[in-house]
Amino acid sequence: MIQRTVGAGIQLMPVVKADAYRHGATAVSQVLEHEGAQWLAVSNLEEGKALREAGIRARILVMAERIAADPKAWREHRLTPVIHDLSEIRMLDHEIAYHLKVDSGMGRLGTNASITEIVESVKGTRIEGLMTHFATSANFQSEQTNDQHKRFEAVQAALEQNGIRPMFLHEASTNPLHFGYRKSWGNLARPGYAIYGFVSRSRGKAPDKLLDVAPALSWKARILLVKEIAPGTPVGYGAQFVADKSMRIGILGVGYADGLPHRLGNRGHVIAAGKLANIIGAVSMDVTTVDLTDAPTLKAGDAVSLLGQEGEASIDARQMARDAGTIAYSILCGISTRVPRIYV
Ligand SMILES: *Cc1c(COP(=O)(O)O)cnc(C)c1O
Repeated sequence: MIQRTVGAGIQLMPVVKADAYRHGATAVSQVLEHEGAQWLAVSNLEEGKALREAGIRARILVMAERIAADPKAWREHRLTPVIHDLSEIRMLDHEIAYHLKVDSGMGRLGTNASITEIVESVKGTRIEGLMTHFATSANFQSEQTNDQHKRFEAVQAALEQNGIRPMFLHEASTNPLHFGYRKSWGNLARPGYAIYGFVSRSRGKAPDKLLDVAPALSWKARILLVKEIAPGTPVGYGAQFVADKSMRIGILGVGYADGLPHRLGNRGHVIAAGKLANIIGAVSMDVTTVDLTDAPTLKAGDAVSLLGQEGEASIDARQMARDAGTIAYSILCGISTRVPRIYV
């Protein structure tokens, strides 16, 4: 879908770091490879090696690692490094193609060396890609993205003047694709969030809104016990909730050890029998209590949805993040490996 939207002139490199935002890197990569992805991106060597061990054959870009972490691994596992510091180019086996990341103004990874230094350092080396990453690409009230793009173009132009033409130019993650910030599209883009069915909301007026995606995962929890409680009954650690009426409560087999944010205590919701139900009391390590008064049909052994859709009711990672005072990325990446993944 994303490939169709952006057109054939730009190749996609789906980002499957952090265990594919905890959707399961191997399973997700297999599907993406089957759908034609020729590149995948991860953060570190361990993630890249794990994909190779799982039989993934696509090119793999490792975006946040030091060359020196394991100088032989790049060749051995056919992983493509991103260079963030010009001095690393010399440490790399000269047969290995690399992508150079320019810190164009985000102030995080990538080189912030002068253009002259960059040109001198990459001359005669196997620079296959030139990339950068934007800090505020959903914010169209800020000039930061334009400024970053200009800096990137200046580096690219200087390389070109010196006869250096990296095969891949890539700046865009999900936001610049979704918002139609086309001048940054280059010939390769690195969507992560959109692969999993999310886009951000823009600040200010975005040029466009191109991607029509839906969350890829739903998250369910089992009810361990259902019971009636009398008015005045405290619920959970710290008695943070006290029933003010007779209630029917359900104790769920999910807690913060599974990635349900502790901050959702007395604040979050689940979907119980197609209706929103409140989380009551503290979220504890392995169990969480919900108010099932309005879901009289549910019994022990049934499931409720933490993320997903049941009939009219839906909760996605963005809504959960709002309740928990965090961001949807962190909700997704927080779903622990203890939660069994079922692929449909
Ligand atoms: C995580 C990451 C991406 C993907 O970003 P999304 O917002 O999830 O699309 C792209 N590029 C780099 C360098 C990243 O670290």
